[in-house]
Amino acid sequence: MSSQIIKTGEKPGDGTYYCTNCGQEVSVGDYDKMPPCPRCSNNEFTSYKKDSYSSETLS
Ligand SMILES: [Zn+2]
Repeated sequence: MSSQIIKTGEKPGDGTYYCTNCGQEVSVGDYDKMPPCPRCSNNEFTSYKKDSYSSETLS
């Protein structure tokens, strides 16, 4: 499985996407264009949430 990058202005389809920079969730509809990240204005997103964005847990 390779990671797919969705860029601002593309129409990736209905779903939730995650900023590659800060991990912000962005939801778009079937015909919505990908907006810039509302948190950091990044223009690249992935369709899955990276583990590295989850908060660290103490073991
Ligand atoms: Zn961001």
